[in-house]
This record gives sequence, structure tokens and C-alpha cells, in this order.
Amino acid sequence: MKGNLPMQNVIVKTLIFDKQVRLFFVDNTKLINTIFNLNKEMNKLQMLLLGKTISAVSLMSGTLKGDQRVSLQITMSDPKYKVFADADARGNVRGYLNEGLQNASPEFISNVSLNQLIGEKGSIRVIKGSAMNQFTGITDMPYQNIVDDISHYFIQSEQTQTFIGTNLGLNHEEGLLFSNAIFAQLLPGASLHLIDEIKHTFHTNRGFFNNLGKYNENNIEEKLSELFKDVKFMECSPIQFFCGCSKEMFCGMLYAINKYEIKQAISKKESIETGCQICGRTYSFNQSELQALL
Ligand SMILES: [Zn+2]
Repeated sequence: MKGNLPMQNVIVKTLIFDKQVRLFFVDNTKLINTIFNLNKEMNKLQMLLLGKTISAVSLMSGTLKGDQRVSLQITMSDPKYKVFADADARGNVRGYLNEGLQNASPEFISNVSLNQLIGEKGSIRVIKGSAMNQFTGITDMPYQNIVDDISHYFIQSEQTQTFIGTNLGLNHEEGLLFSNAIFAQLLPGASLHLIDEIKHTFHTNRGFFNNLGKYNENNIEEKLSELFKDVKFMECSPIQFFCGCSKEMFCGMLYAINKYEIKQAISKKESIETGCQICGRTYSFNQSELQALL
């Protein structure tokens, strides 16, 4: 029956403080686990980078409409380290660490902190909109922790008072224990102090947010009212991992990068296998397909 299911991988959209603030909440433990499992073993810092970025983008997908997309690129002070994540209005989310971060030496990656890695020259690039109407914003990262920097992006680039908070439970042996996040945005005319109030409430009630995914559409309003005034539940929308890559996409890439390799494979009567680094799907090109590329 609709409404009674626990809210996992679902963006819960509400209005709080008498419609002054829109507040989205997500328990995305399943989504983050799915994406972590597509990666080779990651250490705690790599999981944090990817988990925080995916949490933020999955909540941002709740603000999209129609064919709009949002894509986030986080570049550390050393630009060979980057994190990508993107999402569309249907809640299709994906994200990955670039090769520099995936293959970072264990000595380096286990001895650097999140804020050291981001450093003073870290930057966030956000591309948002539909194919016909796209907006790019680039901001610096004064907080060096990703989520406050994305909130900073909203204030700088979109002139909206926004707070994003993520709770990631990580454990060396078991990996991800839980993940949830909130997105709060002041609506026109709202009192400015509300954003700090929500931020404070989030940071001092972590346990409350860790359990929120156990509630459902029928009792979430009541539960949230324990922390926020005048809560109104609006709707739920699902999120899921979806890559969207296709063989055609890799055809183009193969042709652009590896003409020599294609000729070699044809002369040796071999096929070429190529893999998507985001979802791990592999695509194989046989002799006639390779010949068609030349
Ligand atoms: Zn893929």
C-alpha cells in the first residue's frame, strides 16, 4: 500500500516554518552502497569524497523539472584529483572518482585529510539546466569540506540561502553503515536566521536524521514536527543509480582516441573490449564493428 513503505532511496519533500523554507531529506544508504560496490576498494577519504558529492547531487535532483540535469565537478587544489556526479529530474544519479583519485598511492591517500586534499585552490563547477538552456557556475571552496562549499555555491551563484548536510557512517571493515542528507533552501521573503537554525538543528540531532528513513508518508510530518515548526509534507520522489552509457557513446570515443589500436586489432583479427568507468559495464567491438569505425 502506498504511503506505508519506509522511505529508502526516496527524496522526501516538505515545507517547514510555515512555507518559508523548503526542506528535502533522503536516506540514500542503498544508492551510495550500489555506487561504492561498483568501485574497487576505497579508503575512508575516497568514500567520503564520493559519498558527500553523491548525496548533494541526489538532493539537488529534487529541484529539477522535465529534461533538466545537474552535474557537479569538484576539483581539488591539485587538479589531477577530481570527483564527478550528476543527476536528472527523474532521480537518476551517478558519480565517480577520476582516475587520479582512484589510483592515488595508498601512502598519499591515507595520510591526507579531506580539507588538506581540497586545499585552498579547490573549486566546484555546477552545470545545470536542459540541453536548450544551460547554466554553468564555478565557485571556490572556502570550507574545504564539499557540503558547505556547495551551500556556498548556491549563495554565490544562485543567490539562494541554502544548507546541505550529509551524515555518512563509515567503518574500516564494513564500509558504509548509513547515509542520509538534507537540503534546506529559504523561499522568497523568509527570515534569514532560519538557515542557521536549521544548520544547528541538523548538526545537533544526527541520530534523529539517521532514523528518519524508517518513517513513511503518513507519519513523517509528525516526526519532523519534533524539530521544525509548521511542517507540511509535499511529496516523495525516488532516486536510483542509473548510468545511461551506451555502446554508441563508446564507439565515438574509441574512434577518437584509438585509431592505431583499431587497425592493430583488425590485422590481428581480435575484438576490442572497453569499459565504462562509472558503472563498470563493458562493451565489446567485433571485427565488422571495428572495420565500420575506420
Ligand atoms: Zn556506464
